Order: sequence, then structure tokens, then C-alpha cells
Amino acid sequence: MALLNIEELSVVYGGAIDAVSNVSLKVEEGTMVALLGSNGAGKSSTLKAISGTLEFERGEITTGDVQFDGGSVRAVKAHQRARAGLIHVREGRHVFSGMSVEDNLIAAGFAVGKRGSAPGRAEIDRIYEYFPRLGERRHGLAGFLSGGEQQMLAIGRALISQPRMMLVDEASLGLAPMIAEDIFRIMAEINRETGLSILVVEQNVGLTLKHASYAYILENGRVVLEGTPDDIGGRDAISAIYLGAAAKAAANPAHIGG
Ligand code: ATP
Repeated sequence: MALLNIEELSVVYGGAIDAVSNVSLKVEEGTMVALLGSNGAGKSSTLKAISGTLEFERGEITTGDVQFDGGSVRAVKAHQRARAGLIHVREGRHVFSGMSVEDNLIAAGFAVGKRGSAPGRAEIDRIYEYFPRLGERRHGLAGFLSGGEQQMLAIGRALISQPRMMLVDEASLGLAPMIAEDIFRIMAEINRETGLSILVVEQNVGLTLKHASYAYILENGRVVLEGTPDDIGGRDAISAIYLGAAAKAAANPAHIGG
């Protein structure tokens, strides 16, 4: 059975804006899966529904179900999902800029850790092994890190609690191609070495298809293409995204440029 199973999920904002319509997807345990699409396709909304940031209870999710580890998490709050091992790295590199790199990791471990205590030395050092740049800057303020290093720290904060599944929203956004490649290479390495399941949301098709084993392409809140990178091919994936974006811009010129 898949670790994450989404069935016929719909997200509506303010009772009027259909952001996600009947999306079904799954992530098998130990795999790295991609959710691709242009601006406004519904990628972030899907992730937010999975992590519990958007709720059934508040009417933001109108149809469908989210199943994690064999059971529905419809009624499970976001912080409880995180404690159960379903962790969300939000778009925008959320770190505490006034705290050191290491204190950021400790605080994240405290917040989500199963034991309700600070993470141990070995757990922190494990993050530095994956991201040596963070180790070099462990005593520096997170606010002084480069964009790429802040993204690494945001991922490190998610990893410190040793989750079973990590949801990552636009890790490559605004980063130099080499840094984005580094981050994806390391995520793929963690996926292979530890069996951590990963669902990444991305606009960068080429980079993502190099590392993911399966991909879904969203357009206007719907899955328009899915398959292995070989099945869908980089070119098909890019044209699906491009055509969707172009159709959206034609329908609503105000949206040109996102
Ligand atoms: P991006 O890459 O630009 O973040 P995305 O694929 O992640 O795009 P979403 O952010 O999920 O897309 O947005 C899907 C649709 O829902 C868009 O039309 C967007 O304008 C709308 N939307 C997103 N958040 C809200 C909100 N809080 N209130 C109203 N509409 C929203």
C-alpha cells in the first residue's frame, strides 16, 4: 500500500476559487515523486491539503481524502501530522533568521520531536553530513546565510525529526542552477540512503525529472499527465506545462507572468 494516497481531492478558496479539482495521486514508501506545473496550477494548495495547512473542517477541502500510512488523516491537525512523520517544507525558506543555524535545528527538533526534547548531537551531526555548508556555518545567524543555504536549513529542520515523508514546495525557486542541483542531489541521496519518501513540488521540470521516479503534472487544478520520467519524457512534460500556462494566460490576460 502507498504511504501517501490522495483521492479525488478538491480545494476551494473562499467558497469560490477552485484551486484543486479531483486530484488523485500516491507516493509509494521510499520513493521520490514530483508534482509539476506552472504558476497557479494548484501545486502548493495540494501540498497544503496533504500537510493539514488547509483543512476539511474549515471547508477549504471540499472533496476527497488524504490517507497517510494506511489511514485517513482528514481529522488530524497539521502539527499532529508532523509528529506522525508527515512534514512540510513550505515555499519561501522558513528559518528563524535571528537564531544560529544549530539553534534552528534544535528548535525544529523540539517542536516536532517525538520525545518532546532537544535532538541529540548525532541527529544534528547527521544533518551536517548531508549539508556540510550548514556544519561550517553552525554558529552563524541563519539570516546571514545565502538563499541556497537557507533552503538547506529549511530542509534540515524538516529532517531533524526523522520523518517518514517530506513534502517540499519549490526548493529550487530563485536559486542558481548549481545550488538547486546540489539540493536535489542531496534530497535524492537521502531518499536512497534512508528510504525517506519525498513529494516535491516544482516548476523546474528538467531538474526534477532527473531525480524523481514518478511525476504528476497539474494544470488548472487537474492532473493532465502522469508517469515515470521515461514515460512522460522531459519534452512532453514541458509542453504540457507550457500549453497549460499559455491557455491560462489567454483566458485571463491579467495572469500573464504569474
Ligand atoms: P505557484 O507556483 O505560483 O505557487 P501553485 O501551482 O502552487 O502556483 P497554488 O498556489 O496552489 O498554485 O494556487 C492555485 C490557485 O489558487 C491559483 O489560482 C491561486 O491564485 C489560488 N490561490 C492560492 N492561494 C489562495 C488563497 N489563499 N486565496 C485565494 N486564492 C488562492
